[in-house]
Amino acid sequence: MTTLTNEETPAARKRLLRTEIPGPKSRELQGRRAMTVATGVGSALPVYVTGAEEGVLHDVDGNVLIDLGSGIAVTNVGNAAPEVVDAIRGQAGEFTHTCFMVTPYENYLEVCEELAEVTPGEHDKRTVLFNSGAEAVENAVKIARRATGRQAVVVFDHAYHGRTNLTMAMTAKSVPYKHGFGPFTSEVYRMPMSYPARDGADGAETARGVIDRIEKQVGADSVAAVVVEPVQGEGGFVEPAEGFLPELSRWCAESGALFVADEIQTGFCRTGDWFACEHEGVVPDLITTAKGIAGGMPLAGVTGRAEVMDSLPPGSLGGTYGGNPVSCAAALGAIRAMRERDLAGAARDIQHRALPRLRALAERTERILEVRGRGAMLGVEFVRAGSGDPDPELAARVAKTCHERGVVVLTCGTYGNVIRLLPPLVISAELLDEGLDVLEEALVEQLDHPAR
Ligand SMILES: *Cc1c(COP(=O)(O)O)cnc(C)c1O
Repeated sequence: MTTLTNEETPAARKRLLRTEIPGPKSRELQGRRAMTVATGVGSALPVYVTGAEEGVLHDVDGNVLIDLGSGIAVTNVGNAAPEVVDAIRGQAGEFTHTCFMVTPYENYLEVCEELAEVTPGEHDKRTVLFNSGAEAVENAVKIARRATGRQAVVVFDHAYHGRTNLTMAMTAKSVPYKHGFGPFTSEVYRMPMSYPARDGADGAETARGVIDRIEKQVGADSVAAVVVEPVQGEGGFVEPAEGFLPELSRWCAESGALFVADEIQTGFCRTGDWFACEHEGVVPDLITTAKGIAGGMPLAGVTGRAEVMDSLPPGSLGGTYGGNPVSCAAALGAIRAMRERDLAGAARDIQHRALPRLRALAERTERILEVRGRGAMLGVEFVRAGSGDPDPELAARVAKTCHERGVVVLTCGTYGNVIRLLPPLVISAELLDEGLDVLEEALVEQLDHPAR
């Protein structure tokens, strides 16, 4: 069954603007926030939320906004999905924490079994659970280094892997993620990324260029891990040219480095498959997951080949909260919802509904370099007329206009010039269409009245 239906939508799930956005109550809270919350944490759209379901957010001023962001690719199964809420309620009433490293519990095992089932590859797998994506990436590197006895980590231009010290080193973009936060860890090497809209190059050929650089500059026998997002998230929804990932993965197998897919943003049906790697049949040695895994509860994992994962001694991995039982219950509910409601199919339906409309928009202006993406992970890259230079101002103005009209869209990209769409996979066709109408309007107006 697909959830992208044309059924009558209840009134509570329709866009409704009662005040300007953000409304007076949100603005009041924003003022209070300035006196108590550190400035270092920003908000893309400071409307204060009181409730959310499927594709909408309700705010303190009584507005209902269309959600095309899913809290950054987290609520794939929809906000407050019944399968997730019931699982949380049930588990929270039994026990909320023991620490898996002290006295374990069964639903941690069940999540690991599910991850073995849904991640690419038929080999024996083992999993360890954490709380955040950054923590999963850190641990994938720890595991790769210990298992291979090597130190170098290869990452890519435009990569985003998190905000901790090691993952900052692995992330490409300086402002706002890294600037002033050094020194960073050593033994992280950055390579060019296949970026078809800009390099127009063949994927396998680009990968061979990368491999040549790794061999010359790092040394084939020094590389513990090649860490790559199969479709880049924060870096601009960059989908490498066909052949890039398989060639890198092949080289890893040949040289003894581990191929690590960071599927934190792309995972859990987002791109129309359980994981984005599947699109080209790539089977990673290790895969990092978080975001969409548990319907909004904090949970993350590293899943990998049994012989790699089991080469580490007991006690060398862990954390107080890793695999919290309430988060594990939520994950089991979310994964069940993805399976039973065929949310990978729903993501493909979203692509087929949205991509042609976005492409038609791109036909009408030279200010869109490219519309790209797979499943419900779609991006629109804006450039200046003539030069083709990135145009972050246009992206920001279009996003702001959408926000004012009650549609939550996010921007991304090394240059901040990409609008990204990450709707919950359960969004109705009606809401998706309406969100796209608003995006289209906003763009047309910004092109006509650039001073707005
Ligand atoms: C969001 C993200 C991370 C970091 O996850 P957190 O839970 O924010 O620490 C790492 N890698 C990718 C690809 C991401 O999108």
